[in-house]
Amino acid sequence: MSPGMDGLDFSALERQVGDRLLRVQSPLRACLPGGDSGRCAQALANLRNPYAIEDDPGAFHTTGWLGAFDAGHSPVAVAAETPADIAAAVDFARDHGLGLVIKGTGHDYLGRSSAPSALLVWTHRMRDITVHDAFAPAGPGGPGVPAVTVGAGARWLEVYQAAARHGRLVQGGGCTSVGAAGGFTQGGGFGPLSRRYGTAAGNVLEIEVVTASGEILVANAEQHADLFGALRGGGGGTFGVVSKLTMRTHPMPGTIAIVAGAIRAASDGEFRTLVRALTDFLPGLCDDRWGEQVRLSGDNTAGFFMTAADVTEAEARGTWRPFLDWAAARPGAFSADVSVSVIPSGSLWDASAWDEIAPGMACPDDRPDQPPGRFWWATNQDEVSQYLHAYQSRWLPLRLFREAPDTVADALFGASRHWGISLHLNKGLCGASAEAVARDRATAINPAVFDAAALVITGSMQQYAYPGVPGYEPDLALARTGARRVGAAMDVIRALTADSGSYVNETNYFEPSWQQSFWGANYARLAEIKQAYDPANLFRVHHGVLAVGEKGGAEGGANPLL
Ligand SMILES: Cc1cc2nc3c(=O)[nH]c(=O)nc-3n(C[C@H](O)[C@H](O)[C@H](O)COP(=O)(O)OP(=O)(O)OC[C@H]3O[C@@H](n4cnc5c(N)ncnc54)[C@H](O)[C@@H]3O)c2cc1C
Repeated sequence: MSPGMDGLDFSALERQVGDRLLRVQSPLRACLPGGDSGRCAQALANLRNPYAIEDDPGAFHTTGWLGAFDAGHSPVAVAAETPADIAAAVDFARDHGLGLVIKGTGHDYLGRSSAPSALLVWTHRMRDITVHDAFAPAGPGGPGVPAVTVGAGARWLEVYQAAARHGRLVQGGGCTSVGAAGGFTQGGGFGPLSRRYGTAAGNVLEIEVVTASGEILVANAEQHADLFGALRGGGGGTFGVVSKLTMRTHPMPGTIAIVAGAIRAASDGEFRTLVRALTDFLPGLCDDRWGEQVRLSGDNTAGFFMTAADVTEAEARGTWRPFLDWAAARPGAFSADVSVSVIPSGSLWDASAWDEIAPGMACPDDRPDQPPGRFWWATNQDEVSQYLHAYQSRWLPLRLFREAPDTVADALFGASRHWGISLHLNKGLCGASAEAVARDRATAINPAVFDAAALVITGSMQQYAYPGVPGYEPDLALARTGARRVGAAMDVIRALTADSGSYVNETNYFEPSWQQSFWGANYARLAEIKQAYDPANLFRVHHGVLAVGEKGGAEGGANPLL
């Protein structure tokens, strides 16, 4: 038992929540000295499946981060099934001076759903989903809009599939196993179509939340509007425990165009030329159709996985032709293998359709007794049970492409000399639809996103490494090398983007000036709202908003292990 919980009598809490009070154990206990090797092998296999990780209150997607944390489970959890269960846990933690931590999926990169000395509220069982033809928030009333209400533990795949059965689309994330009502949406939340529909936060119509006082509130644009704003972009685990929320849905686009492949340059000099051509081309994709990623790698390759909604194959080819023709006209300098295709958007959340379109792309949850059709993307596999060496992000302003394209090209090329970087175009909202921007301006996310051409992300990790488990410890020498390279790459991007910021859900544990970086001018207001609803900072996560007057721990900026 952890300090603070040692010898504590949980019987009062047990009387309230019954057998939902759990004693949590490590999923890898069989791998510790004296353990059972067969069970250990089974546990290690489970930890390669994101849904198995989510089924276990003691397991996490990120197993640790060099110099930052080793993911550790809470010894005691409330496996909440109702808002009243959550309120009982909140009251118990507050009245006993205990820390409180919330885990939905455990996907957080920064370990914000792992706190070994805190009481855990585990929302995994709260996965009800209701699709509405017309939802009107409490209070304001009105005719209502098409929407979906999701329980705190629901994952995006479940929400997408439920909405798709009604011919509707929900603006969530790329990864199917990320939570829909937890940290993703409360931190902002970007998906491939964010330039058309905005962030997940911007689409939220109403939130049911348990506050630090144990009250169950319903917040929307009319009631508890301050809390409503903070819960949309102010960061997970900070303003209360969300028990459910309702988001607007959108008409399903007809088709999705996909541009995928790579262009390889023959030399460093030719790669610099290619990157410079990209700085001319990418601003042209700043509209409400294009999203996903361009990756610049140290082996002089530019990789593309780009998508666009309601764009025909001919239109997609037309958009990309000038750039691809430019590369094709220089066969000595570049070799290109880039394809353009179109899929019906109805296939997006159908694993069997993917088995036809791109075999191996959709990984089924093939454990016994799991619902059919549940899958995760093969491209997300390398993040399952990852030990992070470093991870950073930075919004790249569009205006720099216009004002100083050579400087941008130098920086992108220079960064790629240290470590590969990815430009996530859909996580920068340049060219986003006016409705999406209007909705997102009412959230707490850093306004730097609105002028951004992309969010530059880079990270380094090793997989299936578990701190404290003999034989499976992370390789720290490898970790230090990776962290130094990521740091060097992002120093180049930071120098270019001094006034920009970083996306709170995909960021550096050691982010300098994190308040400004994650929320910009919105931080001061967020601290006031925190003061109003949680003045004692019961809900406390690493680099999360704190009540006015408390600055918080590490300011960031230095990894002590480097
Ligand atoms: C494979 C992968 C792919 C990703 N893809 C994307 C992407 O496409 N776009 C994007 O924007 N982000 C993406 N992310 C980042 C993602 O937004 C964050 O990891 C986010 O923290 C996940 O939220 P969660 O609730 O699922 O995770 P959790 O680890 O369960 O929670 C994250 C944080 O939210 C808090 N929290 C959880 N539930 C609640 C609740 N009910 N009430 C209050 N606080 C709560 C937790 O305490 C913690 O602080 C991805 C992450 C991974 C691992």
